[in-house]
Amino acid sequence: MARLADRHPDNVDGPWYVDTRCFDCDVARHHAPELIAARADGQSVVSRQPATPAEELDMWRAALACPTRSIGTVDRREVPPGVFPWELTPGVFLCGHNDRRSFGAHAWFMPRPGGGILVDAPHWDREVVALMEARGGVAHVLLTHRDDIADAQRFAEHFGARVWIHAADADAAPFATDVADGTDELEVAPGVVMFPVAGHTRGSVFYVVDDRVLFGGDTLAWMWREGDLGAFRNATWYSWAVLRDSLERFAASGHRFEWICPGHGKWHGATADEMHRRLRVLVARM
Ligand code: SF4
Repeated sequence: MARLADRHPDNVDGPWYVDTRCFDCDVARHHAPELIAARADGQSVVSRQPATPAEELDMWRAALACPTRSIGTVDRREVPPGVFPWELTPGVFLCGHNDRRSFGAHAWFMPRPGGGILVDAPHWDREVVALMEARGGVAHVLLTHRDDIADAQRFAEHFGARVWIHAADADAAPFATDVADGTDELEVAPGVVMFPVAGHTRGSVFYVVDDRVLFGGDTLAWMWREGDLGAFRNATWYSWAVLRDSLERFAASGHRFEWICPGHGKWHGATADEMHRRLRVLVARM
């Protein structure tokens, strides 16, 4: 819950505000870029109050995704139902409830025949769990790398799910049931492929679903300010050169995707041809 006593003085007048615990993870600006802006020091503040029901919903998404729970209303409005999980495109749910332990990374749920997949994990939340239960549960928790694990173990235990991670990052998830190794891709469930992409960390992987949705972890994201696919050079903990090679290998693999759904950075949808072209240009730029 946001702390009114810590309301930042640079918020515009009105009911919505951001408190000073914000740690500049950018998530709120993904959901409400027209309403929440970053100061020079990275602190988010409300730059304009919502004026329509759609903008009010954007603000609620920002509030429920904020890992420090820094966004709220002066009059302490009740959270409306159904804010998260948010079905971004058919069959792909953004979980919200981003966790501070993963520096506010996004987590994703896709219902699948035989049990759904949870990609990385949000903070434990009853509404998120209820939707997963209503949509057939979670059969596989798919960890993209060591940083974005949050409440993965709790979700896995609740649903009796298998947990996948690459061996190079496996020490971060000792509860994993399935540890992949090497650089070869691996089908973890029908239509769901793990593709190792060392670089951000040594054990980073993509998950590609039906050659339609690419879960990019902290390796590949939509850079919403630039309007392009990108990678985080300043947050590459293992090797930028290896990351470049990994993305080149993925671009040549024949896998396609229309949606990029990352841990950090923003999501985006386009045609598979457009995404592939942008990926090739990114590799050349790197
Ligand atoms: S989501 Fe929360 S912590 Fe992250 S930038 Fe927005 S207000 Fe700050």
